Amino acid sequence: MLGLMQDRPLLISSLIEHAATFHPGTEIVSRLPEGPLHRTNWGELRDRSKQVANALTSLGIKPGERVGTLAWNSHRHLALYYGVAGSGAVLHTVNPRLFPEQIDYIINHAEDQILFFDITFATLVEQLAPVLKTVKAFIAMTDRAHMPDIQVPNLLCYEELLDAQSTDYTWPEFDERSASSLCYTSGTTGNPKGVLYSHRSTVLHTLMELAPDTFGISSNETLLLIVPMFHANAWGMPYAAAMVGAKLVFPGPHLDGKSIYALMRDERVTFSQGVPTVWMMLFQYMDASPDLDPRQLGVKRIGIGGAAVSRAMLERFENDFGAEVVQGWGMTETSPIGVISKLLLKHANVPHEDLVKVKLKQGRGVWGVDLKIVDAQGCALPWDGVAFGHLLVRGPWIASGYFRDEGGAVLDAEGFFPTGDVATIDSDGYLQLVDRAKDVIKSGGEWISSIDVENAASSHPAVAEAAVIGVAHPKWQERPLLVVVKRPGVKVEAKDILDHLSQRVAKWWLPDDVVFVDSLPHTATGKLLKTSLRQQFRDYQLP
Ligand code: ADP
Repeated sequence: MLGLMQDRPLLISSLIEHAATFHPGTEIVSRLPEGPLHRTNWGELRDRSKQVANALTSLGIKPGERVGTLAWNSHRHLALYYGVAGSGAVLHTVNPRLFPEQIDYIINHAEDQILFFDITFATLVEQLAPVLKTVKAFIAMTDRAHMPDIQVPNLLCYEELLDAQSTDYTWPEFDERSASSLCYTSGTTGNPKGVLYSHRSTVLHTLMELAPDTFGISSNETLLLIVPMFHANAWGMPYAAAMVGAKLVFPGPHLDGKSIYALMRDERVTFSQGVPTVWMMLFQYMDASPDLDPRQLGVKRIGIGGAAVSRAMLERFENDFGAEVVQGWGMTETSPIGVISKLLLKHANVPHEDLVKVKLKQGRGVWGVDLKIVDAQGCALPWDGVAFGHLLVRGPWIASGYFRDEGGAVLDAEGFFPTGDVATIDSDGYLQLVDRAKDVIKSGGEWISSIDVENAASSHPAVAEAAVIGVAHPKWQERPLLVVVKRPGVKVEAKDILDHLSQRVAKWWLPDDVVFVDSLPHTATGKLLKTSLRQQFRDYQLP
């Protein structure tokens, strides 16, 4: 027997409608690529989104067709989030930091029909236009006065195009399982693969994102969206903000420490999320400006994910900012929430050192995400915080496969998605990432977690950034090599760092050598690019 409740489809358009109806005057602030700060609100954003939908109709875009963006975080991009998905088309957010060949590959693979771009990317668009086979119009996200002088067919002006449209538009109702947005993984191995979110997956993910044991976001909040909107939908924040009508702040292309600090201060930001690299840039700016008092900012929580949180980062946010750190683990394929690190009631009287260990774990499962860790044969491992194995996840906002079936069937017999990560899970359900399966160092048949050694190295005061990779070894197959970027102006020897590490990691995990470099390679999303580092040190002779 079926229940007798209304079967309303879970659609993204319902989020913007809610925000505009109940929080019309709440601000949306954007720093634009053109320079100035722009202010609008949820009421106006709904009108703009409807103008986007009408513009798409006028350009002949049909439901299910892909609309590309090469854009920073701004109110203009937000109007595309709602206008494109709300009309039934699919928003394909392209990562402009990828190599041009990858951008060309993914736009052609996605068959984008039109491409919206920020003026920052005008030259890139001009360079790519001749090879973009399906793109019928290029729309510069600016006003007439700032239109770029480039040679591309059908170049249109965003503000002009939208101003000409009516704000009268009725959001269509369709199957909630319809595709809403498309985001390609960074493709550190092989070609990038498309993760195709649905309206249903997005709305369910948004509900969980707001929950108190997740990010606990309410209408009283001001959110600074540092995670790019081309990266796993800015970790879902554009939707979460609308569902509660929170104030939104967009940094545009200005992600340097000084700009981020100023936005936090001037807009009274209470919550922001980012990868550790972004926070390191903020810290570097603050180190160079000792008069700043981050406690005056009033930031309450900082969300960190994409890479492990170091103890130094955790403590700096807690002690200097007076902010709670909420770590999360996830990936583009998980929308991205997988696990979130929040304390439990039982932690109330736990000694500080033990508490730090809990906080540095990636987090616990939230409703909607089933977890399992398995050995090489696929057999489930115990949740004892010790046994580690391949991590698999299952749930309504986890990918079931890739766009156009790239990579074939990915799920196991129980419908779990293999994450490529290696983890432990303890008896409270806290997951600790040991490593990416391809980064784990295999020494004499045992595994060394590069992440643990990196975290221990990062806690040395002279270390700005650390990476550990496996280097070929005649006896042990692989041994760890530590590659370090020093803090400016400090003196430190390899021996000092190894002494520091020997207090913190097992003896056989100690790196065989330490190399100092000026900088480490990062991916387009700001993570350590270990493939490139392994290539660089492929023939390194360990002592
Ligand atoms: P995304 O684009 O969402 O970052 P990627 O596939 O590039 O997706 O990266 C996801 C990977 O990032 C995870 O599989 C994991 O290896 C790593 N990662 C994510 N969050 C954390 C975290 N909190 N700690 C350590 N590693 C993390």
